[in-house]
Amino acid sequence: MNIHILTLFPDFFKGFLESSILARAIKRGIVNIRIVNIRDFAFDKHRSCDDYTYGGGPGMVLKPEPVSRALESVKKGNERVIYTTPSGKLFNQEMAEELSRESDLIILCGRYEGVDQRIIDMYVTDEVSIGDYILSGGEIAAEVIVDSTVRVVKGVINDVSLKEESLENGLLEYPQYTRPEVFRENRVPPVLLSGNHEEIRKWRLRKSIEKTLRVRPEIIERRKREGKLPEEILEIVREIKSKGVNNETDKGN
Ligand code: SAM
Repeated sequence: MNIHILTLFPDFFKGFLESSILARAIKRGIVNIRIVNIRDFAFDKHRSCDDYTYGGGPGMVLKPEPVSRALESVKKGNERVIYTTPSGKLFNQEMAEELSRESDLIILCGRYEGVDQRIIDMYVTDEVSIGDYILSGGEIAAEVIVDSTVRVVKGVINDVSLKEESLENGLLEYPQYTRPEVFRENRVPPVLLSGNHEEIRKWRLRKSIEKTLRVRPEIIERRKREGKLPEEILEIVREIKSKGVNNETDKGN
């Protein structure tokens, strides 16, 4: 997979590309990430990339000329061009999985008040927001998109780890424990030490459902509407709801 990130702040990505899963995926040649400095495509005397907004108003806007040149320097065909913006579609795990199947991606990081609309009209296929808040620039959003996308690219981490994660099956993850068995008088739930795989599976599923109902009930409602909840989950949902979703259920025991 080839990812081009267009930014005015290339240094932002230094540590990011050198750490952990991403660094390994790059080293193994599964993903190739190139950071493109938009300023390298500004040819006026001051290499300026922003200008005042037409119609008045605060802040500056990214100029179309350097951005279009930067885009055209990496564009090969009809690959997806993502523009990071708080007014885009809300990013989620489903989108990360969809993007992980692309062979080429271009991500344009906005700055200031954003980019000239003509760039969006001419090149952008997806406007993506990582949440309902305003960042100072698109770099952090690009990192979020790249990190969550690359880790689900086939071969980057093992399939078992992915299947067990929050949102992979539409539910938040169950609680995790490691040694010691007793930490400051708090015990690991006995079922996890039982060696009974079926009991452990059922306990984890129940914990996942309890947490999702309490913290993100809309996920369960949406998946119910979409007909994506198996009967086993629906039954547990009904049972928990009949007893009342309380605040104690996050604890392992
Ligand atoms: N004036 C813009 C607006 O209200 O939509 C906000 C501009 S923001 C200060 C600067 C840049 O940060 C944006 O162009 C965008 O690239 C990025 N950005 C800010 N919040 C974001 C978010 N929630 N998701 C994705 N990108 C974001």
